[in-house]
Amino acid sequence: MKSYKIAALAGDGIGPEVMREAIQVLRAAAKKFGFTLTITEAPVGWAGIDAAGKALPDATLALCRNSDAILFGSVGLPDRDPTIPKEERPERAALLRLRKEFGLFANLRPVKLPAVLAHACPLAKERQGAGIDILVVRELTGGMYFGQPKKTEDLGGGHQRAIDTMVYTTPEIERIAHVAFKAAQLRRKKLTSIDKANVLENGILWREVVTRIGKNYPDVTLEHMFVDNGAMQLMLKPTQFDVLLCENMFGDILSDEAAALGGSLGMLPSASLGATTGNQTFGFYEPAGGTAPDIAGKNLAKPIAQILSAAMLLRQSFGENAAAAAIEAAVTAAINAGNRTGDIFSAHEVNAKRVGTREMGAAITAAI
Ligand code: NAD
Repeated sequence: MKSYKIAALAGDGIGPEVMREAIQVLRAAAKKFGFTLTITEAPVGWAGIDAAGKALPDATLALCRNSDAILFGSVGLPDRDPTIPKEERPERAALLRLRKEFGLFANLRPVKLPAVLAHACPLAKERQGAGIDILVVRELTGGMYFGQPKKTEDLGGGHQRAIDTMVYTTPEIERIAHVAFKAAQLRRKKLTSIDKANVLENGILWREVVTRIGKNYPDVTLEHMFVDNGAMQLMLKPTQFDVLLCENMFGDILSDEAAALGGSLGMLPSASLGATTGNQTFGFYEPAGGTAPDIAGKNLAKPIAQILSAAMLLRQSFGENAAAAAIEAAVTAAINAGNRTGDIFSAHEVNAKRVGTREMGAAITAAI
């Protein structure tokens, strides 16, 4: 029997609530599809600081190194974050650190609006066409978030100067372009590469390299779009997009904009992939949203993004495609049966039933 090790880091806010449901669903899928999962939980974020004095405790990092994949919740609490130095705060000290540590250079965020949730999409129905189905592929370890120098200088006279540096090398662009073209081949075979080649040196190089890599994928139609136009087109005609390829910061912004089209942040999973060894890819899987402190601990959070992240983990890291598809089908079945957490509930929907985190998780587990 195949056996895999998962590090489950729930984090803060709604993290523990949605992680509990995802673990339950993973166990049901493993049982049904005949593989063994060793799921070990460990603290991260404020939970890590409270337990061991660091957002990424040494024992948690050691567990991750000893695992085949990481299932992550989310970290950070807006009322506590400002009380400690910037570099010790959960998002920098845990999330960015893990991305660097495991070389997680490719972030995949699928955005799918199910037809029954058309009312939860902020766009008018006629702009939704036959359905929105976009995959955002974001470069995750380069660009402005990591480039050096990165500092705030004192200029004297009460003035300061903040510096961030945008840097990309050819190999960094090549490897993320390959990920995006390969993903497009498995979808509708269209790739829109986002840049700002009219203003940025980085944009010119990005466009040149993506165009060159595209020659290896003649079955994929490649188009280039400036990021400002891309942001607008996502609102005007999202159905034109299949795969969107973005550098780090543009992808951060556009993936959240695209996420809004999916109806609720609580619907959207993501995968951050590192190197592939043999047929296993080390990956880090997390919901698109944050810790949602406004609804934490109230059984109000939607666990679907966490559960779909677990499905992506089974597919991308372990190749357990049937189990992943079964989880995705179970989510669709639970939604089609009328289960709605508060964020996607509409009193106008016939047969809609308002449920909490636990009830939604139970409905999905039962459907596996
Ligand atoms: P957020 O995503 O936590 O919340 C934004 C809105 O979406 C809130 O109204 C929230 O209730 C709702 N929402 C989010 N997830 C939901 C779910 N599963 N079900 C139902 N509703 C959901 O973003 P924020 O308020 O900007 O950030 C809160 C904290 O989370 C901050 O400390 C931020 O730094 C952190 N954060 C962490 C990550 C991460 O760990 N990857 C990502 C984003 C934000």
